[in-house]
Amino acid sequence: MPRVFNFSPGPATLPEAVLRQAADEMMDWHGSGMSVMEMSHRGKEFIAIHAEAEATLRELMGIPSGYKVLFMQGGAIGENAIVPMNLIGTNGKADYVVTGDWSKKSAKEAKTYGTVNIAANGEPSKFTAIPKQSEWKLDPAASYVHICSNETIGGVEFHWTPDTGSVPLVADMSSNILSRPIDVGKYGLIYAGAQKNMGPSGVTVVIVRDDLLGHALPVTPSAFNYQTQAEADSMYNTPPTYSIYIAGLVYKHVKANGGLAAMEEHNQAKARVLYDYLDASSFYSNPVAKEDRSLMNVPFKLKDDSLDEAFLKGAQAKGMIQLKGHRSVGGMRASIYNAMSMEGVKALVAYMQEFEKQHA
Ligand SMILES: *Cc1c(COP(=O)(O)O)cnc(C)c1O
Repeated sequence: MPRVFNFSPGPATLPEAVLRQAADEMMDWHGSGMSVMEMSHRGKEFIAIHAEAEATLRELMGIPSGYKVLFMQGGAIGENAIVPMNLIGTNGKADYVVTGDWSKKSAKEAKTYGTVNIAANGEPSKFTAIPKQSEWKLDPAASYVHICSNETIGGVEFHWTPDTGSVPLVADMSSNILSRPIDVGKYGLIYAGAQKNMGPSGVTVVIVRDDLLGHALPVTPSAFNYQTQAEADSMYNTPPTYSIYIAGLVYKHVKANGGLAAMEEHNQAKARVLYDYLDASSFYSNPVAKEDRSLMNVPFKLKDDSLDEAFLKGAQAKGMIQLKGHRSVGGMRASIYNAMSMEGVKALVAYMQEFEKQHA
């Protein structure tokens, strides 16, 4: 079976070169006589793998000194609780900007740990646009402001960085981290599950400014206390070693392919092919405001949803899988992360044209 074009929102397609290298190194990593899976996390081999993954990520994203990089477990949904447990303690309140299903979930979870102010909410427009910052009601005394930089389900993405003054900006970047350069210095904390754009599930990357450590609520489990993990170099508990290894290979692959500026160019070009076609067609539609459209997750609908099943079946027959939209939105969704090729996007558009001709 040749490899499929996998449009899954996550776990998602990974660079073939990374998978091949992992296969080559499966039985014997660099003459150690072991698979990375079998190594002690405290042995010199894994410590080198871990250090290289962190160093490459720091280089790729331009992470300034004064920030810790943690490799944790619990996923982004875990972080929905871990973030407030660690950061809300300063005064017990936080601002949340709700732009879709994921940030809504984050806000809901945070309520267990303090007072949550919904500073802006895109729900009245069915999450098809990001509320302008001029409409946000920020609390200057909040512990932090939380956003989701890319809503994986609704397909809306921040193409600008909010200005929250001296209040730390916290972003769930699970589905657009490494898709373009960002200014890490504008954030207090960034978190991202790996399985969209960085590697396998199981590891969550947390990039946190030093001054935000040390304010955790007393209920915070030690394994989820950022300061405890920072002091232990993310090894307070056994880290997800194999996931960190693969993420490290992905970082090196991104670097070897031109870094984040090259990823941005590649992602813009892919998204343009798909959105241009959607906009030109009266058979397919995308509901998101043009300036807020995600370059990573492209939801679209067919004119007649009774054709959805035939569309998916035909796509599958051509080796294009996981195009079904999220159940809350319906229709289709093409997730086109860094590792999706232009060839894959062009194959999808060619199939969409053919399907449109048959059914219009
Ligand atoms: C996938 C996703 C999550 C959930 O990640 P888990 O690993 O299941 O915890 C949260 N936020 C965003 C933006 C996502 O894309």
